[in-house]
Amino acid sequence: MANLQLRSAHKAYGAIEVIKGIDLDVEDREFVVFVGPSGCGKSTLLRMIAGLEKITGGDLMIDGHRANEVDPSERGLAMVFQSYALYPHMTVAENMGFALRIAGVPVAERERKVRDAAQVLELAHLLDRRPKDLSGGQRQRVAIGRAIVRNPKIFLFDEPLSNLDAALRVNMRLELMRLHQTLEATMIYVTHDQIEAMTMADKIVVLNAGHIEQVGSPLDLYNHPVNIFVAGFIGSPKMNMLRVRVEAIDAHGVSVALPAGGTISVPVNGGSIKVGDEITLGVRPEHIRINPAGQFSGEVILAERLGGLTIFHVAITADVTLVVQTDGADRTALHVPIALGIDPHNCHLFDAAGKALTKLN
Ligand code: ADP
Ligand code: MG
Repeated sequence: MANLQLRSAHKAYGAIEVIKGIDLDVEDREFVVFVGPSGCGKSTLLRMIAGLEKITGGDLMIDGHRANEVDPSERGLAMVFQSYALYPHMTVAENMGFALRIAGVPVAERERKVRDAAQVLELAHLLDRRPKDLSGGQRQRVAIGRAIVRNPKIFLFDEPLSNLDAALRVNMRLELMRLHQTLEATMIYVTHDQIEAMTMADKIVVLNAGHIEQVGSPLDLYNHPVNIFVAGFIGSPKMNMLRVRVEAIDAHGVSVALPAGGTISVPVNGGSIKVGDEITLGVRPEHIRINPAGQFSGEVILAERLGGLTIFHVAITADVTLVVQTDGADRTALHVPIALGIDPHNCHLFDAAGKALTKLN
C-alpha cells in the first residue's frame, strides 16, 4: 500500500511564493503526472514530496502519516532525475546497488535485487559496464534501476526522458508504462510534455504558476477542460480559440456570432454571461471538417502533410486563421476556397475570465 495526500501545501522562498496551496490525493498504484509549462512549480512540488525542499505551509501525508518533517531517506520514496546522476567510476551493478550498500544490505541480497531489477530493465548483459560506455537510454534505465532496487513505496520521476532523442523518448515512455504494470507501483511523474502526460497518466494534474488548474483522467481533461488554460495546454495541435459575441441564451444553450458571419448554438449553460458579452469559442483542429455546408469559408494558406494526417491553416478572415486536422489523403490545394463545418457538441465556450461554461446534458 502506498498513497499520498497534499493538503494546502505551500512553498515560499522568502517572500516569493512558488507553490500556492496544493490539495491532491495520489492513490495506491496510480500513475499520476504533474504537467505544466516551464517554471510552474512541478519540480519544486516533487522535491517537497521527496523531502529535498522544506514544505513551508500545509501537510504532506504518506500512508496516512504526516511526513513533512520525516527525513528524505525515511520516506520510502525513490526519485529519478532528468540528469541521470550516475557515478562515472562505478559499474552499472555498483551504481544500481549503491544505496543498498550504504544502507548495509548484505552482499547476497544486494546482488539478487540488482539482478532482478536488471532483468526487468533488460540491463542484465550490461552490469559490468561503466556509464560512459552506455547509450543515453541505457543510462536512464540504470537510473531507474537504482530506484527499483530500493523497492520504494512511491517512485518520483522528474522529466526523466527529456535528455533523450525523440524516438528513444517514445520507446522509454512505453517501457515506463510496462514497468508501472509489472511493479504494480505508485508513480508520480513530472513533465512539461502534454503528450507524455496524456499517454502515460491515470490521473493528470495540470499546474500553472504554483497552483492546480485541473485534475482528471486524460480524457476528462481533453473532453471537459475547466478553463482556457487547460483547453489550450492539452491536445495537439492546440485548440482553436475564436473571439465571439453572445447573441442569445436559452434552454438549448448559448448562441454566438461567428467571425465572418453566421451563428452557432452551443449546448452549454449560460452561467453568468449576458447577451452582448465577448467570450471565447474553442474548437479542436480534429473537430473541424471540410464541409461545403459548413459555417466558415476560407482559404488554405499552409499545409503540414504528415502522411497519415494533414494539418491545414485556413484563413477565414483577414486576421483569423483556423487550424484544421484532416485526412492524410486529402488533396485540397493551397489558396483554393474551401468551406469548413463544426459540430456544436464539439465546441467549448469560455467566459471573459477564461472559465468554461458547463455542458448541458
Ligand atoms: P518547473 O519544474 O515547473 O519548471 P520549478 O519547480 O523548478 O519549475 O520552479 C518553480 C518556480 O520556483 C520558478 O519560478 C523558479 O524560478 C522558482 N524557484 C525555484 N527554486 C528557487 C529558489 N531556490 N529561490 C527562489 N525561487 C526559486
Ligand atoms: Mg522542473
